Amino acid sequence: MSAYDYDLFVIGAGSGGVRASRVAAAHGARVGICEDDLVGGTCVIRGCVPKKLLVYGSHVHEEVKDAAAYGWTIPEPTFNWATLRDNVQKEVMRLNGIYKTLLKNAGVELVVGRGRLMDAHTVAVGEKMITTDKILLATGARPWRPSIPGAELAIVSDDAFHLPNLSKRILIVGGGYIAVEFAGIFNGLGSEVSLALRRDLVLRGFDEECRKAVQTGMTDNGVRFRPETELAKIERCGDELIATTTKGEAIETDCVMYATGRVPNTAGLGLEKVGVTLNKAGAVAVDEWSASTVANIYAVGDLTDRINLTPVALMEGHCFADTVFGNKPRKADHQDVPSAVFSQPQMATVGLTEEQARRVYPRLDVYASTFTPMKHTLTGRKQKTFMKLLVDAESDRVVGAHMVGDDAAELIQGVGIAVKAHATKAMFDATVGIHPTAGEEFVTMRTKRPDPKPVAKAAE
Ligand code: NDP
Repeated sequence: MSAYDYDLFVIGAGSGGVRASRVAAAHGARVGICEDDLVGGTCVIRGCVPKKLLVYGSHVHEEVKDAAAYGWTIPEPTFNWATLRDNVQKEVMRLNGIYKTLLKNAGVELVVGRGRLMDAHTVAVGEKMITTDKILLATGARPWRPSIPGAELAIVSDDAFHLPNLSKRILIVGGGYIAVEFAGIFNGLGSEVSLALRRDLVLRGFDEECRKAVQTGMTDNGVRFRPETELAKIERCGDELIATTTKGEAIETDCVMYATGRVPNTAGLGLEKVGVTLNKAGAVAVDEWSASTVANIYAVGDLTDRINLTPVALMEGHCFADTVFGNKPRKADHQDVPSAVFSQPQMATVGLTEEQARRVYPRLDVYASTFTPMKHTLTGRKQKTFMKLLVDAESDRVVGAHMVGDDAAELIQGVGIAVKAHATKAMFDATVGIHPTAGEEFVTMRTKRPDPKPVAKAAE
């Protein structure tokens, strides 16, 4: 047994830290973990889980409306924000309890407080000095907002779960995952939502056609887009906020929410003291084994800014623990990671976007389909589902699958297995569809789009 208090000490009990500590303990390591907040991290406390519950809540009004076409007469529903907010928080507290129990049952000791590195083998938590052989940094990331006058009057996603009231009007700044998801939530719950984009399209980095489909669907649902808009200042004026754009336009609203990205939680960790290097993005620089620049110190999750998703942090934490404590060396595989945006309409994706695939594969076949979901043939709701498969014509391999529409996340999870397994289009075609479903479209798309015309070369 080593002379240290622990074989592994983890700073941060979020998805990556908890998974790594439990797996390392199961491999026989003596493990401690520190956390100064609830256990569970961004995903459980102020991210994926409470967000998805709010998404469910925000869909109810349209289900009630749609019910009429199916013969139901339902009196005009009323909504109580405090009930939804408090019920979501109860669930968060329940999960926090479950996470604590999981740690306890795994034999991981939870130390309450913020950890900071004193040297490569010592972590201070408050007054307590803890010695350890290996250290895992898993402190995640936090919302970032531009520093304009009055920025402190705006909320960020952390605050959105605790609002005393639901604002009548809300201006959301940003066009990423968080902006579009909360736009859908607040719109669905009855607020008037405007989205200020600094460019003209949401969800940069995703397949362009899907981005357009999401933006069109959100517009049809009543979200107002303000493209090419950046804020210069925010001022309070009585009960209202006035957000002034860099072009001088004054936008009156009740609430401004910044969803302009997240930054890794590196401050106060003592990284520079022990020589842990940051990369250009300000994240902890790690190699493919999640090892930092200090031999016994590792880092996983959003703190490393690789792919900032809970399941990826879980994978990185698990691989680290298997490699370092389980004698099972395993690298996290960041290829073909499926993901979803719980916007309304929902979007999910795996593999390359069409723009990326065209750069990699000289002959790319594109299969796409837009249709009205069966449910809405009766409701008359103006809502389309969009699906797209990208196929490398050379190998027949499906290199990208994208969907915008109901249940996109549930469907793409399955399609993700096929893409990960390097399935060919012929294998998709040989799979019998389940009828009637939206998903069968993925195995019945037979007509490829005409190849795009080559871009004419400029005269030399
Ligand atoms: P993103 O990085 O996804 O998006 C940030 C947005 O803010 C972009 O639209 C960006 O615009 C815009 N922006 C940046 N700076 C400014 C500025 N100064 N003024 C105006 N707009 C600005 O960040 P999020 O905060 O939405 O999400 C953070 C991460 O959390 C995501 O990357 C994702 O990995 C994760 N996440 C995942 C979810 C899921 O899996 N469903 C849900 C929520 C979060 P532009 O495009 O022009 O750069």
